[in-house]
Amino acid sequence: MTTTSTPATNITWHNSSVTAQARAKQKQQTPVVLWFTGLSGSGKSTIANAVEHQLLAAGVHSYLLDGDNIRHGLNQDLGFSAADREENIRRIGEVANLFVDAGVIVLTAFISPFRADREKVRARIGEAAFIEVFVDTPLAVCEARDPKGLYKKARAGDIPDFTGIDSAYEPPNAPEIHLHTDQADIETCAQQVVSYLDTHGFTRAPQGAN
Ligand code: ADP
Repeated sequence: MTTTSTPATNITWHNSSVTAQARAKQKQQTPVVLWFTGLSGSGKSTIANAVEHQLLAAGVHSYLLDGDNIRHGLNQDLGFSAADREENIRRIGEVANLFVDAGVIVLTAFISPFRADREKVRARIGEAAFIEVFVDTPLAVCEARDPKGLYKKARAGDIPDFTGIDSAYEPPNAPEIHLHTDQADIETCAQQVVSYLDTHGFTRAPQGAN
């Protein structure tokens, strides 16, 4: 995976003298991770995009980390084995954590099929800054949509370990936000997410920072 076989030891974490609190105050928002999870074709990217548009219009600074884009760059050395999926999610969690430190509302759109991997990210980022968004779309609906033709290929045996077909998807037990895309359209689902952010104070400066 990497060319360095021995982890570095002589490194020290430097705290910036410009604090996360100061950056959040400057932006008048409370940074957080919206972690979208769901089957391929469930609507993660589509809804996350619509959320970003609504936030931009409201003057809120967000950034979307999207599955395929990250796999083209940062994680281009990773495949879809269980170990590589775990490392994929771990790195995305670390990047999301940096964005939170920068004061940004970060959205991630990855299948992230394994509960344990998502829980590790939640623990790393901290409960207060992690919002799990379950894009709950039945497999049959995802397969009928098949926006990238991936289910067709998976059914034909051309894509091994495809989530929902021959690799497991473990749904969240208690997601903060639960979206049913077979019952509500894209804008309504996006509005549900933005309303959650508003109601819980994320679109305003952190308390005590005003
Ligand atoms: P994912 O990122 O989860 O793989 P995509 O967002 O790429 O999924 O694809 C979802 C597809 O489903 C898109 O073609 C989108 O237009 C369609 N779609 C239909 N209804 C909805 C809905 N209510 N919410 C999200 N996507 C929907």
